[in-house]
Amino acid sequence: MERTIENINEKIENGDVQVYSASDFKESIRNGDVPSFEEVDVVTCGTCGIMSGTSAIFNIIVSEPGSFKKANKIYLNGIPAQVGPCPNELLGSVDCIINGTGRSKDDINYGGGFLFNDLLKGKDIEVEVETYEGKTIRTTTNLDEIVTAHMIGTRNAFKNYTAFVNTGDKPINSIFYAKPMESGFDKISFSGCGDINPLQNDPKRNVIKMGAKILLNGSEGLVLGSGTRSSDEAPNLMLSADLKKMDPYYIGGFMTGMGPEVYDSVAIPIPVLNEGIYNNLLVLNEDVPLKVADIKGRSYHITDTDYGQMWNGHDINRPKFDEGKCIGCDVCAVEENCPTNSVKHMIQNNKIIVELDNEACFGCGICSTYCVGNVFELDTGMANLNIDGENHSVHITSRQSDRLRANHIINDLVDRINDGSFKFSY
Ligand code: SF4
Ligand code: SF4
Repeated sequence: MERTIENINEKIENGDVQVYSASDFKESIRNGDVPSFEEVDVVTCGTCGIMSGTSAIFNIIVSEPGSFKKANKIYLNGIPAQVGPCPNELLGSVDCIINGTGRSKDDINYGGGFLFNDLLKGKDIEVEVETYEGKTIRTTTNLDEIVTAHMIGTRNAFKNYTAFVNTGDKPINSIFYAKPMESGFDKISFSGCGDINPLQNDPKRNVIKMGAKILLNGSEGLVLGSGTRSSDEAPNLMLSADLKKMDPYYIGGFMTGMGPEVYDSVAIPIPVLNEGIYNNLLVLNEDVPLKVADIKGRSYHITDTDYGQMWNGHDINRPKFDEGKCIGCDVCAVEENCPTNSVKHMIQNNKIIVELDNEACFGCGICSTYCVGNVFELDTGMANLNIDGENHSVHITSRQSDRLRANHIINDLVDRINDGSFKFSY
């Protein structure tokens, strides 16, 4: 039996579509009561993690028409953006492209991902334009005033990641760890949401084709095609959506040892058109291989593990938090190293205050490793690596993907399909 997109759209319209989130679907496989091909029309898959290829295209009004001819440079909250491609400066506005990995010239801990989040939260941002005439124009704006704000992800939802350990004798700075990763070969950092990743569930891209509808950070968007460096073995996607319709919960900044990064959340519905597509959906974390490499140089392949070791049985929630345990270190290692700036530590009226912003927290695990007072507890688990026949047990100290956020966006998509507001377009 085969289904068509028209069949599924009709069921969505009639309110009798059978849709599962990938997490629920995988859970049912583990419980031995997986719905049969006949019982499932759509499975929503998704991922959330650092996606360095994220950029936004803006058109920003900066002055009265005729006040300058050409912009040379533009900074948004201190982050440099590329002027262009269209010239509209005589009309008083500037087109520009800004990267999620861009870093502020005024604050080394602030970058493009944080800027996108601030804009979506309705905050005003500072705009500075240097003109070819030698003028500097300063103004403020916000997402309501920005005329166009569109996001393009040039490398999203990557299927094949690598996990990293440090086998050397020196700490190493890298985008794969929130701080310099210490030597000692006792920690591992990884990315990827494993068995719920869209490309893991449609590895040959039978349905994730150019023009397929998606949710990018909560905004309905499209697959533009393959992302940069995408290959048959290691595919990723180029995605696009209206930034103004995004939800700040799904996108934000993430500091790494090499500077600011940006995380995104993506959900893609897999229409179960035939048994082949259904069979691809049966993949589980333990079936998904994960290479382990040395963080120094990135390409030195040490061994292999799988996503079962990374996610199965571990806590995907936010850390348990007990402010009363804080011993008031001179420098709070958590405030210093939390990649999403979710922790504030201060002394007020001789009292130690520690605040955790659960909404901004990524569940990465850095705080539970580095807090000396056990204020933060999160069971991210251990992984056993087999290297040349010897077992090495390493602590999963840095998760650069967030299955909790990924679950939110794939459930959001389930709701939209069930209420008829999201249909397939091809
Ligand atoms: S590292 Fe932990 S114990 Fe030390 S100041 Fe920070 S929260 Fe308190
Ligand atoms: S898990 Fe801890 S270190 Fe990681 S984002 Fe949350 S508060 Fe920050």
